[in-house]
Amino acid sequence: MEKTDIKNLTLSGLEAYISGLGKERFRAKQIFKWLYQMDAMDFDEMTNVSKEFRAVLKERAEISNLSPEAVEASGDGTRKYLFRLADGASVESVLIPDEGRNTLCISSQVGCAMKCAFCLTGTFGLARNLTTAEIVNQVCAVKREHPVNNIVFMGMGEPLANLSAVIPAVNILTDPDGFQFSTRKVTVSTSGLVPEMAELGRGCTVNLAVSLNATTDEVRDQIMPVNRAYPLKELLAACKAFPLPSRRWITIEYVMIRDLNDTLDDAKRLVRLISNIPSKVNLIPFNEHDGCGFKSPTQETIDRFHKYLLDKHVTVITRSSRGGDISAACGQLKGKLDQMGQQD
Ligand code: SF4
Repeated sequence: MEKTDIKNLTLSGLEAYISGLGKERFRAKQIFKWLYQMDAMDFDEMTNVSKEFRAVLKERAEISNLSPEAVEASGDGTRKYLFRLADGASVESVLIPDEGRNTLCISSQVGCAMKCAFCLTGTFGLARNLTTAEIVNQVCAVKREHPVNNIVFMGMGEPLANLSAVIPAVNILTDPDGFQFSTRKVTVSTSGLVPEMAELGRGCTVNLAVSLNATTDEVRDQIMPVNRAYPLKELLAACKAFPLPSRRWITIEYVMIRDLNDTLDDAKRLVRLISNIPSKVNLIPFNEHDGCGFKSPTQETIDRFHKYLLDKHVTVITRSSRGGDISAACGQLKGKLDQMGQQD
């Protein structure tokens, strides 16, 4: 009999599972707390669960775990974790410390099918989706070493292409009996899968980040093939319809690429496009990498773009490139991962 990995289950899923074993549903809360608040790796650690029931659980279920196969630390404090999965595939998570808070960037797929032109992960294609357990186990593993304050689904993969695992993972992260992250502290990022944005909003309460990166369909078609299916007009309408709790914003991610999307006209169009969406803008200067012909914008261009947005009362942050010396910047994970794989 194949064992059930209980880290694939949300609290309500675990309640149903436990009542299926003939036990009271409230036992699920106890077990959930052991898993995510006390990091239990074995049913025998769950001392407030009867010995008999622990024996049943051990026979029918398992508690999966991940431990990093390699950790790379950057000079600026960024740490990159390489996790080898049960089938030999691998993913990465990146811990980014900033002003006393640690943000953990986690992966949702092995590789990615979206083929964004500026992204190394996209060039490798999709190997497979992660399970809910493989997603939450990245958080369990890093939390063993460092406090984690924020979670962002911005590692390998398009989270909205794996909603059946991502929505339960978000619910485990934000469950008061689970990891207990505030819904303010968890962000899911998308390249713009419009129907799935609505599904995400129905399935959980979470912050949304949209990787926009262009202000015309012509340019966005060129760098993000998803735009051909869901052009800007549809994407921005989906942003506007996304169920945001009060006083929350959608994060608009904008990777600035020299001479492609970094002009003052782009800044002007961007302000117009997001004018009726509660949003803040993250400007991310493109990080040059081998195999990609795009160039980083000049500092002068970045400053001019940033200032225009500020002058128009748009909340904007220009993200400094973190972990550059370990290639932990967005879209550079898989490339480095493969280099590490070749050293095996
Ligand atoms: S930027 Fe994100 S969605 Fe696009 S290819 Fe890379 S990992 Fe996939």
